Amino acid sequence: MPEGDALHRAAERVRALEGEVVHADSPHPRAAVLGIAERIDGRRLERVEAVGKNLLLTFEGGLVLRSHLRMRGRWRVQPAGAKPFGTPWLVLRGRDAQAVLWHGPVLELAGARPPVIGRLGPDIMRDPPDVDGMVLRLRAADQSREVGEAVLDQRVVAGIGNMWRAEALWRAELSPWRRLRELEDDDLRRVLGEAASLMRGSLDSGLRSRSVYRQAGRPCPRCGEPILSRGQGDANRIAYWCPECQEGEPSGAL
Ligand SMILES: [Zn+2]
Repeated sequence: MPEGDALHRAAERVRALEGEVVHADSPHPRAAVLGIAERIDGRRLERVEAVGKNLLLTFEGGLVLRSHLRMRGRWRVQPAGAKPFGTPWLVLRGRDAQAVLWHGPVLELAGARPPVIGRLGPDIMRDPPDVDGMVLRLRAADQSREVGEAVLDQRVVAGIGNMWRAEALWRAELSPWRRLRELEDDDLRRVLGEAASLMRGSLDSGLRSRSVYRQAGRPCPRCGEPILSRGQGDANRIAYWCPECQEGEPSGAL
């Protein structure tokens, strides 16, 4: 699933069209029924931003297009007029380049910044990140929540997804199963700081090092103990952790 760093990379690509008048087309029938292409066709693309896991495209006249990629969505930029692979949801064609969206499960056009954006927590990709603001939101949450679940809540901190929460908790040596009330503010700061630096590093280098994510059964790179995995929270997102250096087990038997 694309996380904040991937959305920033997508924004950097699509920014090739910033300032240009774009021609818009929705080849995919599920996108065509939204009537979005007609409304932005021929307008100037004024600004491209990544906010949390959302891509926001602001067009002249104050129209804001929000794209959330969920699991499979993808933005690419190719030479204008190239025949895109498959049936894209949206093609924005500029002078020299075109931005193409495939599998755009969330695509909305509004006359202003969508309210969902205002409800997001501080963005983990902001440089520097507002760690104090995130800690305040974690402290305002139900303290019986498990930290691994809480940091995925986009209203608490925007941009962290399943992979980076696993890697950040491992680097911070904190079990995803620890409850917020068991943790000090410094513990929370440590895991948020690790997430921010891992994701910033990934954006800058394009490299993603994985120590625990999807490594169940393999030895922990720090201590050699086999990595465990288990679904967590209402959404049952798979948590990965080392039972030796991230002390704290899930409630109930493993
Ligand atoms: Zn370990």
